[in-house]
Amino acid sequence: MKLILLGAPGAGKGTVAKLLTKLDGSVQISTGDILRGAVAAGTELGMKAKAAMEAGDLVSDDLIMGIMADRLKEDDCKPGYLLDGFPRTIPQAEALKVMLTNMGEKLDCVVNIDVPRDVILDRLTTRRTCESCGEIYNVKSNPPKAEGVCDKCGGPVTQRADETEEAISNRLDVYNEKTAPLAGFYEKEGMLLTVNATSSDAVIEAIKAKIGK
Ligand code: ADP
Ligand code: ZN
Repeated sequence: MKLILLGAPGAGKGTVAKLLTKLDGSVQISTGDILRGAVAAGTELGMKAKAAMEAGDLVSDDLIMGIMADRLKEDDCKPGYLLDGFPRTIPQAEALKVMLTNMGEKLDCVVNIDVPRDVILDRLTTRRTCESCGEIYNVKSNPPKAEGVCDKCGGPVTQRADETEEAISNRLDVYNEKTAPLAGFYEKEGMLLTVNATSSDAVIEAIKAKIGK
């Protein structure tokens, strides 16, 4: 399947994407993970993205479109892909539309995961992430078996640099201003599925019902 997952930071895009990869072999593509990897590796891309990311601001559309133009051409995208955290601005959505048309591809739908702000705030402040493989934990509801150590890969599980209270509040403002309008954009394209759900399983069921898989 080919989906876009829309939703505020902490809405559960990553968790839902990981569950969906298990259904049909579609690959999760998270621009946030790609960028964090580049920052950790100290590449040129990482150096360009680092300051914006730490402040909770968006990285430039040009940088993101460069990454995605290459990424969507890779072989593992053939069975399908789950776009997690991309597109995030109207110009990115418009550029993606052109890119997909040129590639002769069509998305199944755009899933808008709608979660109340208080739930989001609570999730983000308690969220912890594996620095090596990106696995997501929660200090309250889903801690790693050994504190600070990833169950899957043994990597360090830490709080992201952009998950301080100040950066979180900025990310939510940026989301409302720049990304929330994408729901209207995809509504007009006739592709939007809005799910009001706080459980990832309910989101998965709604997606299956919509695209018939
Ligand atoms: P979130 O939990 O906010 O959804 P992500 O892991 O998707 O976090 O992204 C982390 C950061 O990476 C964002 O705050 C932003 O700085 C940058 N980023 C990720 N995807 C994009 C994008 N499509 N456009 C611009 N910036 C992005
Ligand atoms: Zn890990």
